[in-house]
Amino acid sequence: MQRKALIVGAGVAGLSAAWWLKKAGWQPVLIERAHDLRDAGYMLGLSGPGLEIAKRMGLEPTLQAAACSVNENVYRDRKGRELLRLRYREFLKDLPYIALRRTDLVQALRDALPDDVEIRFGAVVESIDDRGDAVAVRLADGTALTGDLLIGADGLRSWVRRTCFGPDEQYFKELGYRFATYDLEDVLKLGSDFLSYTEPGHIVEYYTLHDGRLAALHVWRTDETAIVTSGGRWPMLHDISRNTHESVRRMLDVAARGPEPLVDNLTLVDMPSWSKGRVVLLGDAAHCLTLISGQGAGMSIASASILAQELAERPLVEALARHEQRLRPSIAKLQERSRKMGALFIPATPFSFRLRNFILRHMPRAWLARYFLSAVQSEILASQDVARTTA
Ligand SMILES: Cc1cc2nc3c(=O)[nH]c(=O)nc-3n(C[C@H](O)[C@H](O)[C@H](O)COP(=O)(O)OP(=O)(O)OC[C@H]3O[C@@H](n4cnc5c(N)ncnc54)[C@H](O)[C@@H]3O)c2cc1C
Repeated sequence: MQRKALIVGAGVAGLSAAWWLKKAGWQPVLIERAHDLRDAGYMLGLSGPGLEIAKRMGLEPTLQAAACSVNENVYRDRKGRELLRLRYREFLKDLPYIALRRTDLVQALRDALPDDVEIRFGAVVESIDDRGDAVAVRLADGTALTGDLLIGADGLRSWVRRTCFGPDEQYFKELGYRFATYDLEDVLKLGSDFLSYTEPGHIVEYYTLHDGRLAALHVWRTDETAIVTSGGRWPMLHDISRNTHESVRRMLDVAARGPEPLVDNLTLVDMPSWSKGRVVLLGDAAHCLTLISGQGAGMSIASASILAQELAERPLVEALARHEQRLRPSIAKLQERSRKMGALFIPATPFSFRLRNFILRHMPRAWLARYFLSAVQSEILASQDVARTTA
């Protein structure tokens, strides 16, 4: 009989899991809280095993069509003076790397699913009951669903994790930063360049999206970890930008006329086990790596393919354990990398800020290119254990 997987969350991990499980002969059902595919407009880079596996899913032409070309990133200080110019196009030219919007990746994953894969949008799971031989869920509208496996792919603030594995505090490791992303009409006309304003403890990056809108990403140092509720996000961004270049504040004024930004903490999720009985967590719900690692989406795709492969080859509980065993070494390395890279990306004190800029500015261009390339390569290298097990 065809086995059934209930997948909570239709993001990168959930949709990838549905694709791979369907290919392995399962019947996946996606349960998504949002009314459509969540519109998170930020740009992400796919490289390493995640990109390789996306290619195996036949996604490359669609991803390439949605790709943003990245030329160079110009860093300016709060007075607008140029600090540094990183020529991404030059550094990345020999690396298989696709930069695109998360929304476009999620759309491509959804379009790749066969028509008979059910996605229940606007659906909220109220209870999970692992009965040993099956797992049953009840939705808020009263619908009861039963499956052989329940996959929690519901992101960093996973409800499945809290319900089946315990409170977030047990697993959250805060890195001491927050981020915010939003988009606005393109007032900068950057083309394929990035523009960054940087100051001690705060960086803002602007880049043009595929659809011609301008995207902004702020990352800043803070020990605050409480969830920033609706209504408080724009005032908070104005506050942290009070000393930045005036154009940052002007753009905040423009953006604040639109929808609220996405704001969250840079939080690693570090769990001793990603599965319990017939419930398994995938993607950020299991092992959020934060945006610093540059591999969160890629590892979600890789994890989904490994899971389906293992489930096709051995009994369920054994397969879940083996999936975790294959993925863990890469996750540990990438999380370690996230812990270390934050201070370099956003130096917290004026002294460390000036020191970093001085070093980068005075490094010969060839060294800078090599340094940048090796930073991206080390991120890919950290995920290579997975590549070996998925080959
Ligand atoms: C600014 C930024 C930049 C990034 N850059 C990169 C990068 O360059 N490269 C890279 O590989 N990764 C990057 N990442 C990380 C990457 O986006 C994530 O690792 C990836 O999206 C995780 O996928 P996911 O499916 O686990 O979670 P998500 O993408 O968060 O999806 C979770 C899904 O679950 C749904 N959901 C939540 N709760 C429930 C519920 N209770 N019931 C039903 N559905 C629910 C949500 O609506 C959503 O659709 C970046 C992240 C950010 C924020």
